[in-house]
Amino acid sequence: MTRPARFDVLFEPVRIGPVTAKNRFFQVPHCNGMGRGFPSSMAAMRGVKAEGGWGVVVTEQCDVHHSGNHQRELRLWDEKDIPYLARATDSIHRHGALAGIELAHNGFHVGNLESRTIPIAPSLRPTRGILPVTARAMDKDDIRAVRRWHRTAAINAQRAGFDIIYVYAGHDMTLPVHFLSRRHNHRTDEYGGSLENRARLLRELVEDAKEAVGDTCAVAIRFGVDELMGPRGLSSQDEGRDVVEMLAELPDLWDVNLSNFDNDGQTARFSDEGFQAEYVKFVKSVTTKPVVGVGRFTSPDTMVSMIRSGTLDLIGAARPSIADPFLPRKIEEGRFDDLRECIGCNICVAGDKASVPMRCTQNPTMGEEWRRGWHPEYIPPKDTDDKIFVIGGGPAGLEAARALGQRGYEVLLADRGRELGGRVTLESRLPGLGTWARVRDWRLTQLKRMRNVQLLPDNDITADMVLEAECSLVAVATGATWRGDGMGRYHSEPIPGLAHGAGAVPVFTPDDIMAGRLPTGRVVLFDDDHYYMGGVIAERLAERGCEVTFVTPESLVSSFTQFTAEQKRVQRRVMEACATVVPTTTLTRVESGTAHLSCTYTGRETTVATDAVVLVTGMVPRDELYTDLRGRGEAALAAAGIRRVVRVGDCLGPGIIAAAVHSGHLFARTLDTGITDETPFRRENVELDWDQPLPHASGGGARAAR
Ligand code: ADP
Ligand code: SF4
Repeated sequence: MTRPARFDVLFEPVRIGPVTAKNRFFQVPHCNGMGRGFPSSMAAMRGVKAEGGWGVVVTEQCDVHHSGNHQRELRLWDEKDIPYLARATDSIHRHGALAGIELAHNGFHVGNLESRTIPIAPSLRPTRGILPVTARAMDKDDIRAVRRWHRTAAINAQRAGFDIIYVYAGHDMTLPVHFLSRRHNHRTDEYGGSLENRARLLRELVEDAKEAVGDTCAVAIRFGVDELMGPRGLSSQDEGRDVVEMLAELPDLWDVNLSNFDNDGQTARFSDEGFQAEYVKFVKSVTTKPVVGVGRFTSPDTMVSMIRSGTLDLIGAARPSIADPFLPRKIEEGRFDDLRECIGCNICVAGDKASVPMRCTQNPTMGEEWRRGWHPEYIPPKDTDDKIFVIGGGPAGLEAARALGQRGYEVLLADRGRELGGRVTLESRLPGLGTWARVRDWRLTQLKRMRNVQLLPDNDITADMVLEAECSLVAVATGATWRGDGMGRYHSEPIPGLAHGAGAVPVFTPDDIMAGRLPTGRVVLFDDDHYYMGGVIAERLAERGCEVTFVTPESLVSSFTQFTAEQKRVQRRVMEACATVVPTTTLTRVESGTAHLSCTYTGRETTVATDAVVLVTGMVPRDELYTDLRGRGEAALAAAGIRRVVRVGDCLGPGIIAAAVHSGHLFARTLDTGITDETPFRRENVELDWDQPLPHASGGGARAAR
């Protein structure tokens, strides 16, 4: 396949100071939950991106010193940290990409829980978040020290093989941007007051890095040009622009975006592809240096328009490169149908926030490159003669069938629905979740090309049909249903009064709403699930005219969305959509038009008159087919030629879409989903400093007086 000539512009080399990127595809820094804790995983993941054609691959943020200690990210405190970082540069260089590193000092953004060093800031203030830690105001010695640490880290980064050294002044997270900010900087010396003074540290850090390594490495600034907080923050109409004008020609590259991360990393529920362009487009008009920016770019035409319109020189991507590490190669080869587009769900971000290697809804191999040896594009050919029956065409069944088909297996994929896609087809019709359908669409496109996979929609499969199918392996991917009894996290018994019948308050679940069965009038929605479903169902009910009382035992609406960096936006939207939001409260019983509520702290009872109740509390596996098959006994299965029956995806364990996709992929690779005695993947074993003795009781020194 060849690509149309209009995409050639994306494959032009771009000079960045003393180095040259082979094309315009630029994987900007992104956190991943691997960092210093899982360095082999990080190196392998970055290497796969380079293999996939990204011209530049940059690491996540990297502490230059223990006084700005972000324990789940990278670390380059001194030369002892060079070897593990060199592993990453090696794996990136192997495929002809430039390697970048995002040097950072996190200032008051961190509490230094690991290092126990008192955090530092331009001016005295509590550290970010809720830790009982106060950052002290830096004196001139501290500023000189920060410059020294940053310069040393730049030199060590060069020794580790990096080609681009970032000075990170973005996301309201690091010292140079803390100094820039009028909110955080109340100094009266030459580092405070005027913008020129507040920008002094950023200027110095860039100058220091250029002086130290600028002969061979490019020096980049990563800067959030707009904080979306009007006059209280940096704005692209005001000081955000002034900073770029002031330092226009100083760095070799401008990496520009929105700040803070919740604004930069907006989910598809709240923003569309290219949403940052209007804020960053001025940058190219005030500098001759190359400019990279982001906006969940997955459409090659949008990428070209960003270049042609003079908005960007380099197409920056974090999430699109996670969902499809081979995106540049596929565009280069004109394989547009193969592009696996990010759905903008931020489950990847949730991995980082939980300090575990990130996962991706679209790309089940993400985070598994090193530890399980999974590659996003290649998979071992089949090594058995099995013919495999996959029942259920949701994300788990689709991914299982697709990956099995790629391995060369003969596969039947059946679903009782006329339309494949299971939950993603249904959920993608809910407010803000349209991109969820990409999980189905990419897989269906791949499957339709496979001659060894037969798609059987509109087929309600029974155990007898499975026994007659002449398949040796059976994967039951029949999904899960939302429960209607109110049980979940809070209630371990059904909520009283939910029985159906004449006079009873009608009860609905997300399955009803998605099937188009909606209540009318006043509705109490009880959300004990805490991810997106409660919020989007509330939106749907409100847009259809219901008066919704949103009740949740948590103190925040859709509490888990804190992990996906969208909770504040979700809360605002739900508060705007609903008549009332009642946090820290549970639904205790329902009777004759009244919902009884109880405060989860005090037990204080209140009542709400209601015409209907919607329960978003938990799911139960739809596993009747599995149970029926296993109930036939080993002998009957063997007589039908079946050697194994497994559950896959939500039928095995109801959860997020990413887990269902991963489960389907795991089955395709291993032909099983059962728990075995073997360790499932390689572990990162920490190199121990054996030359350092352990302290022991008789180690000398002064004893406490008795
Ligand atoms: P997962 O997230 O695990 O993929 P989904 O709920 O999205 O689960 O998909 C399960 C699919 O299985 C649904 O489309 C459902 O209609 C289908 N299904 C459930 N039971 C049967 C059955 N007995 N025969 C065929 N399809 C079934
Ligand atoms: Fe995109 Fe979601 Fe994958 Fe993150 S987890 S890269 S947002 S599809």
